[in-house]
Amino acid sequence: MSDCLFCAIAAGRVPCRQVHADDEIMAFHDVNPQAPTHILVIPRRHLAAPSALTEADALLAGRLALVAARLARDLGLEAGGYRWVINCGADAGQTVPHLHLHLLAGRPLGWPPG
Ligand code: AMP
Ligand code: ZN
Repeated sequence: MSDCLFCAIAAGRVPCRQVHADDEIMAFHDVNPQAPTHILVIPRRHLAAPSALTEADALLAGRLALVAARLARDLGLEAGGYRWVINCGADAGQTVPHLHLHLLAGRPLGWPPG
């Protein structure tokens, strides 16, 4: 989508601090980190939110999760623990309408979330 920020990042039109890139998935540091480690993992293809996923996206959703798990392992986050967050819609606080998984770690994370 031409006016989507994360599509622009995926296409290289907007810079990011990239930590992973393959044919389908990208990951980069959040510009406004909420924890010492705060990475966003996105599909390159535009999907507005988890609610846009269909059966045809099963492999893509799996790859998104696998990249997030591998990054957590490679960055040494497993010992201390980490959290995945996917916001969907207004009440959840989604501000960028392109599916993204937040990988948060490096401090105790409160529960329930705010
Ligand atoms: P959400 O509120 O779940 O939609 O998350 C959107 C996230 O994108 C927020 O944590 C923002 O800080 C982050 N963000 C916004 N613009 C950029 C950008 N240009 N590069 C990296 N992260 C961004
Ligand atoms: Zn997009």
